[in-house]
Amino acid sequence: MANTDHQFPFRFVPHHRAPEHPGDEPILFAFRGRELLVTEGLKLPSVGEIDAHGVEAVRRQYLGRLDGRHCYSAELPGDVQPSAGFKFANLHMLHATLDDMERALAGRAVQIVEWDRTHQYCGACAEKTVLSEIDRSRSCPRCKIPMYPRLSPAMIVSVERGDQILLARAANFPPGIKSVLAGFVEPGESAEDAVRREVFEETKILVQNVQYVASQAWPFPNNLMLGFRAEYAGGEIEVDGEEILEADWFSAKTMPHYFPGKVSIAQWLIHDFLKRNGVDLPD
Ligand SMILES: [Zn+2]
Repeated sequence: MANTDHQFPFRFVPHHRAPEHPGDEPILFAFRGRELLVTEGLKLPSVGEIDAHGVEAVRRQYLGRLDGRHCYSAELPGDVQPSAGFKFANLHMLHATLDDMERALAGRAVQIVEWDRTHQYCGACAEKTVLSEIDRSRSCPRCKIPMYPRLSPAMIVSVERGDQILLARAANFPPGIKSVLAGFVEPGESAEDAVRREVFEETKILVQNVQYVASQAWPFPNNLMLGFRAEYAGGEIEVDGEEILEADWFSAKTMPHYFPGKVSIAQWLIHDFLKRNGVDLPD
């Protein structure tokens, strides 16, 4: 399972308040919308390289320190064009060229930028909000409502019946691809409740023995994926044909196409199932 146990000391130490001086070699994650400014080789540019363009950020945020270097995020104007040698890339495109920590920080950065952009005014009274001194929030001086970066918890589950796994094809998947079931946790329910509800809603299958496996930050746009394994408890597969087009039980020998790679928790769960059922896969 690709769930890394980070060792002390932490390489990245988050903080909300910017230092007086950016120090040596600060790191800047600069976004146009949700696209990150990178080099043609899809690497992070240095701040010096970005500053050489003279592009003025709409807003800048402080993220914390990575290996002692101060890290910032920035929202660039929506119409900014990359200079020669640079491009804007969706974070999905950077799995091969950024390391795990850089990718995690880029995911953090895009969500902080988006939170700052969309919380400049109070949603209740339209007053201009102010940045908190004590934590990562903005608040309305009139209503005193604090506004934190939004995280949407979602569950994803490997439902298993003996040596078979339940895989489904959602309407938004590329042609031919099947995967494990997933869905958002709703207000008032636990993640385990969400597993039982979503599996039933999507396939009419009942599950038991819901066990937490691992989680993953998934900044598309702001999900925290909570991965589970659950056992079949009853029911026959029935799909709605709209959100879920088809679903079936598969063994390690009859696996359909699933999302390639081992980047997402869906892939970790499927690989974990395959390994426990005799398939030799690299870690
Ligand atoms: Zn207000």
